[in-house]
Amino acid sequence: MAETIFIGVAWPYANGSLHMGHIAGAYLPADIFARYHRLKGNKVLMVSGSDQHGTPITLRAEQEKKSPQEIVDRYQKEFLDCWQKLGISWDLFTTTGTPNHTQTTHDIFLKLLDEGYIYKDAVPQAYCPECRRFLPDRYVEGTCPYCNFPQARGDQCDECGRTMNPSDLLNLRCRLCSATPRFEVSEHFFFRLSAFEDRLKSWIREQTHWRQNVLNFTLGFLEGGLKDRAITRDIDWGVTVPQPGFEDKRIYVWFEAVIGYFSASKEWAKSHGDDAAWQPFWGGDSKSYYFIGKDNIPFHTLIWPAMLMGYGGLSLPYDVPANEFLTIEGKRLSTSRNWAVWLPDYLTKYDPDPLRYLLSINMPETGDTDFSWREFLRRNNDELVATYGNLAHRVLTFNHRNFDGAVPGPAELDGQSQELLVKAQETLKDVDKLLYQCHFKEGIKAAMALAQEANRYLDDKAPWKAIKQDSQASATAIYVALSVLAALKTVLCPFLPFSSEKLHKFLGFDGSIETAGWQAQSPVVGQKLPVPEPLFHKLDDSIVADETGRLGSGGSNEY
Ligand SMILES: [Zn+2]
Ligand SMILES: [Zn+2]
Repeated sequence: MAETIFIGVAWPYANGSLHMGHIAGAYLPADIFARYHRLKGNKVLMVSGSDQHGTPITLRAEQEKKSPQEIVDRYQKEFLDCWQKLGISWDLFTTTGTPNHTQTTHDIFLKLLDEGYIYKDAVPQAYCPECRRFLPDRYVEGTCPYCNFPQARGDQCDECGRTMNPSDLLNLRCRLCSATPRFEVSEHFFFRLSAFEDRLKSWIREQTHWRQNVLNFTLGFLEGGLKDRAITRDIDWGVTVPQPGFEDKRIYVWFEAVIGYFSASKEWAKSHGDDAAWQPFWGGDSKSYYFIGKDNIPFHTLIWPAMLMGYGGLSLPYDVPANEFLTIEGKRLSTSRNWAVWLPDYLTKYDPDPLRYLLSINMPETGDTDFSWREFLRRNNDELVATYGNLAHRVLTFNHRNFDGAVPGPAELDGQSQELLVKAQETLKDVDKLLYQCHFKEGIKAAMALAQEANRYLDDKAPWKAIKQDSQASATAIYVALSVLAALKTVLCPFLPFSSEKLHKFLGFDGSIETAGWQAQSPVVGQKLPVPEPLFHKLDDSIVADETGRLGSGGSNEY
């Protein structure tokens, strides 16, 4: 029976370009998962959008003397372009700047307020006497008390990664004018997270299928005890607070961005002409998956579930397969020092599938992994081109030259041929199981093992020699190889959608591969196949020196 799968993916801040860390951390695994479930015939809803609010946006706007709206519009456009080129198959990629999102946020806020899970309190906030304004998190800067990094932000230190409050920083200063802020009392709303501690604890205990790193991180967070958290800020850009006296304050971005999963589902439903279409994805026996980087774990395993528990009636996360971090050439990725590989830059020069391949087979699933241009070159040339691309190309071109491009009819299959076809069926089952459990790295490795097996088979059968003495043996080997390619284009489709779609056509199958199902379609004997082209291209050694040399040059790209 078809399953109902909701896929929520982290909301990128619309204040800078996407980079490899974002893709490896959340977007690629989510897309692989969505494509896999669609091939399986399951009902999938995958949503996300630009996070338009918060101080990262307003600071960038102030720096560039633009309005926050101009900044978010620019990056929303860029994101959409990147998703299309990289093949991230959203059902909806929206923004948190829609009236629908505001309305949904207000609805949840008011229900939680009504239930007593949101309350008012007065708290000291950093205030700049020069700028005459409150300074929320990133508007203050200072020295990190843990690692002495002099440019730590009010919410986090970019050097050691620790989160903090502005009052923790040493040598506190205003980000806008460098004056020393003082602390003044301001009234804010708080989310009573502490009220959910027991319910969360017993719920987490049931999540034995979660990744160990996600469970450990969550349990560690719970051990420290859950504190209530402020959910409003002294800022004028963001979702309004639906309470009198709060006209010059906004809902803090961490609280409303997670609501985006729900508001986006409603927006998707509306745009499909059925306002209630979101409901199966948020109730019944649906399963919801949240793909995020590890820095976002507590928001998705504790805070968002607590908000959902308080609101009631909506499904809690089924799994939160958070990834670890991607390092770049052995060093921690840093956008402020431009130690990053930017996605728009990559996509203007190279094809999407080689990147999807590298980030899949080297995915930071259980520990940090490294991206290097040397590795990118090696994986492309030695694996994608030499193992998979060559297999497809030599079989298809041989077929074209010797069998007039028509699928040859096989003679009786010998043991070796039968074994390989069984292996292809087993690979379909194995990759199915691995992807179902979000084991992406193992999934693509199992798929590539089948390609290696098929290469060995062809080397043994040597149809290019056999054609001279025994054309029937040659025809059988090519038929078997074409059948294996039909399995490969399926199991690799979630990872490498562009080349799988091409191979689907080269093998003579009609329609889109997305509707072909999770199966190895049988090539039709006698059917004429189109003239094949290479699936991948060898890259030149020089890209390693060129691309590595560009790293770290240029200025900051994040605020
Ligand atoms: Zn630090
Ligand atoms: Zn100031």
